Amino acid sequence: MSKFQPVINFIKQAYPKKDLVLLHEPTFRGNEKEYLANTIDSTFVSSVGPYVDKFETMMAGLTKTEKAVAVVNGTAAIQVALRLACVKQGDEVITQALTFVATANAILYNGATPIFLDVDIDTMGLSATAVENFLSEYGELREDGCYNKLSGKRIAACLPMHTFGFPVHLDELLAVCNKWNIPLVEDAAESIGSEYKGKPTGSYGLLGAFSFNGNKVVTSGGGGAIVSNNVQLGIAAKHITTTAKVPHAYEYAHDALGYNFRMPNLNAALACAQLEQLSGFLDDKRLLAEEYQSFFKRQGIQFRTELPDTKANYWLMCVELENKIERDLFLKTTNEAKVMTRPIWQLMFRLPMYAHCQKDAQKNATYLEERIVNIPSSVR
Ligand SMILES: *Cc1c(COP(=O)(O)O)cnc(C)c1O
Repeated sequence: MSKFQPVINFIKQAYPKKDLVLLHEPTFRGNEKEYLANTIDSTFVSSVGPYVDKFETMMAGLTKTEKAVAVVNGTAAIQVALRLACVKQGDEVITQALTFVATANAILYNGATPIFLDVDIDTMGLSATAVENFLSEYGELREDGCYNKLSGKRIAACLPMHTFGFPVHLDELLAVCNKWNIPLVEDAAESIGSEYKGKPTGSYGLLGAFSFNGNKVVTSGGGGAIVSNNVQLGIAAKHITTTAKVPHAYEYAHDALGYNFRMPNLNAALACAQLEQLSGFLDDKRLLAEEYQSFFKRQGIQFRTELPDTKANYWLMCVELENKIERDLFLKTTNEAKVMTRPIWQLMFRLPMYAHCQKDAQKNATYLEERIVNIPSSVR
């Protein structure tokens, strides 16, 4: 018997009806069909409609922000959030190498370059210490912002990502960013419903970006949202994601280079029905996390739980294996037994597009890259 057979048995009994236990599948048990049928009956299936407005109101309420804007996906949400934080061609953006590729891509889409800094072991997200260490070596404060002494480029933004829904140390990061006059934008794609010191992730930065892809906690099929407590930025987000059209009874006038990044009403209908169930989804995931925690404790395997002062949404749950050999064995035996598990992402600077980017020693990111594995986390 393989040493991980008890893990396989435990996960299979946690999902008794599944032949193949997936990592994260969507759950549709609310008003999804009714709302989708409404959009078809109304013919408003495309880029304007009541569900888009409803979704934006729900998202602003849920994230306790002044304004939320629905967009076509999470990647576009990050891209536009960075642009609105004044990230321009030739700038640099500080982020973590331990992330999904979309975080880094959104920087590149703006003509900017990522600087990859280390994560904290406890949050698996961007480390305030790493950012402070980097800036005290390379940062230079000028009138129009912070510059990188090595590249001569402006460091236009800092983009932490809340890995698997575990919030980064936001207060510490904000303190460093404020000191160096760098706006903070949150990649909250994985962290809907997560909180840091009683407030939602995504609401701490100048702007925050969410994803509603099919594998996230709630899905619109595909979709994203930009949130901000700055109303002007919220209005600008709506404007440039809807072709920057100037309102007029019949003329086509556009006052900036805008995007067609609108979320269709059809997707917004699904998103509304899903958001209505969010708190139930979160309760269900928390229950599974508790079951996993006590099981893995008995197994002597480290299961990741939320840190004090934070609430995790437990989007993708994960264990930390002792080393890479153990991790590879865990991945092989679970997947062969039809229990889907996946390693954490490859660090971004290993990818050809990002191989040349400036980075620090990446001690923690490398440690986690070799050990963290995601385990089935769907709502039951
Ligand atoms: C899912 C995800 C995104 C991208 O969202 P899409 O809606 O798939 O474009 C961005 N960043 C992170 C960290 C994600 O996990």
